[in-house]
Amino acid sequence: MTNHLMNTYAPLPVSFKCGEGAWLFDESGKRYLDAISGLGVCALGHAHPEVARVIAEQSAALIHCGNLVRIPWQEKLAGKVAEVTAMDRVFFGNSGAEAIECALKITRIVGHARKIDTPGVVVMEHSFHGRTMAALSATGSRKVQAGFEPLVSGFLRAPFGDADAIRKIARHHDEVTAVLVEPIQGEAGIRIPPAGYLSELRSICDENGWLLIFDEIQSGLCRTGKWYAHQHEDVRPDIVTTAKALANGLPISACAAGGAAAEAMTPGRHGSTFGGNPLVSRTACTVLDIMKSEDLCGRAASTGDCMMDAFRTRLDGNPRVKEIRGKGLMIGVELGQDANHLRQRALERGVLLNVTQDRVIRLLPPLIIDREQAEHIVDVVCALVEERP
Ligand SMILES: *Cc1c(COP(=O)(O)O)cnc(C)c1O
Repeated sequence: MTNHLMNTYAPLPVSFKCGEGAWLFDESGKRYLDAISGLGVCALGHAHPEVARVIAEQSAALIHCGNLVRIPWQEKLAGKVAEVTAMDRVFFGNSGAEAIECALKITRIVGHARKIDTPGVVVMEHSFHGRTMAALSATGSRKVQAGFEPLVSGFLRAPFGDADAIRKIARHHDEVTAVLVEPIQGEAGIRIPPAGYLSELRSICDENGWLLIFDEIQSGLCRTGKWYAHQHEDVRPDIVTTAKALANGLPISACAAGGAAAEAMTPGRHGSTFGGNPLVSRTACTVLDIMKSEDLCGRAASTGDCMMDAFRTRLDGNPRVKEIRGKGLMIGVELGQDANHLRQRALERGVLLNVTQDRVIRLLPPLIIDREQAEHIVDVVCALVEERP
């Protein structure tokens, strides 16, 4: 069969017919435990009955009407996103990268209002912000950028976790208007910055009149045990980007802003044809309601703690394991050697997992996994690490 797909992915040799909770089923009926949730998207698991019901009901009523008219479900969702992010106003796009684009456009508006001709944004080494031109230019990975020059200009780079490096940038660059950072770096291999780092960034931004932007596209929505990972440190940003789990698989993202940043946009300056349509907005409202009523933040925290304890007990001191990192259900097991082949090995054992940065086994299971399923994931990962390469 001729492959008409552009050659952008290297998929595993498996496809799924359906799912139920944390389980996925292939064509032959074999079941797999999902330890990656379509990259942190299906937080409520697959075929969630209430999510399916709402999608069916709304699609039978009204899927799309365009942002030329008011969309009550979008307004309602904006209120819910503003509440969980503690921001004031929200813009809806369809992907994480689009939320980043919105945040970056706000930094340019704010910069120009301050008479800065070339407003700059401080971004981090090893960061990931998406694949559109501005988002990949902000990303700290040559693999993501190579071949796509000329990149969008206006980014200054600092090592992740190093607040002093940013103070130094502040002394030499008066064109900077913002700092963009993932509170926990996801694609980089679940990298957690030193305690106090995010509050340090808040102070630096306050001292210099910069906006602080947290990219919580992967780490947000209860994944780490709080609505947003930065809330572990009680730091208030100016902008939060959120996406992946927001509608449990329907495409939606949000750029939420507070204070002056929330007032930067005016009609005609930004937009998205599909963004925040009634179907995705209502679905996201349902997802947020379920996350709240079922305390999925608390559940992710406790299940994640159990998994981390189990990994530490079983793998600490193992010469093949370099480090085990995690918060809530955002967990990385870094090996000393290439781990890419373990995705296929895991599949053979009935677990779907991901490897990032070649050496880090990345786990982002649905937040609804039970203890037994969590233990099963730990068992399989430990067996893979321990088995002969
Ligand atoms: C996934 C991700 C993005 C990009 O999201 P897309 O929906 O793929 O555009 C941006 N930032 C972070 C931190 C992500 O994990």
